[in-house]
Amino acid sequence: MPGFEIFGEEERKSVTDVLDTGVLFRYGFEGARKGHFKALEFEKKLCEVTGAGYSHLCSSGTAALSTAMAACGIGAGDEVIVPPFTFVATFEAVMNAGAVPVFGEIDETLCLDPDRLKDVISPRTKAVIPVHMCGSMARITEIKAVCDANGLLLLEDACQSLGATFQGKAVGTFGLAGCFSFDAVKTVTCGEGGGIITNEKEVYLKADQYADHGHDHLGGADRGADDHPIIGTNFRISELNAAVGLAQLNKLDRILEIQRKNKYALKNAMADIPEVTFRYIPDASGDSATFLSFFLPTEDRTRQVAEKLAENNVGCAYWYDNNWHYLKKWHHLKQMKRSAKLPVELCDALPDYNKVDLPESDNIMKRTLSMQIMLSWTQKDIEDRIESIMKSFKE
Ligand SMILES: *Cc1c(COP(=O)(O)O)cnc(C)c1O
Repeated sequence: MPGFEIFGEEERKSVTDVLDTGVLFRYGFEGARKGHFKALEFEKKLCEVTGAGYSHLCSSGTAALSTAMAACGIGAGDEVIVPPFTFVATFEAVMNAGAVPVFGEIDETLCLDPDRLKDVISPRTKAVIPVHMCGSMARITEIKAVCDANGLLLLEDACQSLGATFQGKAVGTFGLAGCFSFDAVKTVTCGEGGGIITNEKEVYLKADQYADHGHDHLGGADRGADDHPIIGTNFRISELNAAVGLAQLNKLDRILEIQRKNKYALKNAMADIPEVTFRYIPDASGDSATFLSFFLPTEDRTRQVAEKLAENNVGCAYWYDNNWHYLKKWHHLKQMKRSAKLPVELCDALPDYNKVDLPESDNIMKRTLSMQIMLSWTQKDIEDRIESIMKSFKE
């Protein structure tokens, strides 16, 4: 999964290109930068890879989510439906926009269940943000249909699923905007970075402005000549990070090929274990294959197997007990531990998150284990791993 496993000469060369110019800033300095525009090139490549019309890079995936929300006009008091299984950044970004995260059930895709969205849609619902978790896709066309039928905006958190597609179309391109993360452990990493993709020029322009203090970038070489059509902030990526990300993105096809090969070797070997069923993947050919996720029949058996796998050095993530990825342990959200006073609209609008009850999601997460797929595994590593997995189920 993590792109850092295959850092090489390409990343080094790309960083050196930037260091040699002394220009670490993505805008301006045309004379000094010797033709290097790493962030711009990265954005072009991201459009090419995803088929999106426009892309804008940010300083992180979280910043990309915040920027996408600002660009789509999501704000104070708006309800935004998100899944309870995601990285905390998704609901943080919603709250930091002054909006209200509302949690919907997930299904065996480990992503939002389109059939259960109606349970949580209210007159205040403005948007739905499905998260394509662990390298694979939600039932995205069905989610989009529910959004369309109810006049809701669709934004996709594809931070974990760069390279994944549904019926040949990249995740992140189904809604009004999609977001990716290039943080330290993602498929493509540049240390810290994120990206927004969209097919709507208006959304792109707003994102481009918002992430750079509202600059319209129409002043030419003179930043001082830019106008400020909106109030923004600084979510810019640096040229150094973009340089690494660009070199990594050029390796995406190779990364996906290795991940898929490694994942399917394990999955095929495990297919004969009667008590194991696999995560439902709406389009298996579009799986980016960063994780192999599977279910066991009961919570007790899942915990037992998790323990055995760990003992045999083939440990899996048991997200149900994880502090960062499942609502059950989000005490800071439940106790509303904010660093600053909440906006008035939000104080009135926020539900009591202690009372959120998601039996379907609990039932699935209690029985889910996910094995991270590494790029660096050798054939021997995979064979040994399969042996250890098989042993763990027999013990
Ligand atoms: C990593 C991640 C983010 C945030 O990305 P950062 O670049 O770490 O800010 C958001 N959502 C999901 C689902 C993620 O996995």
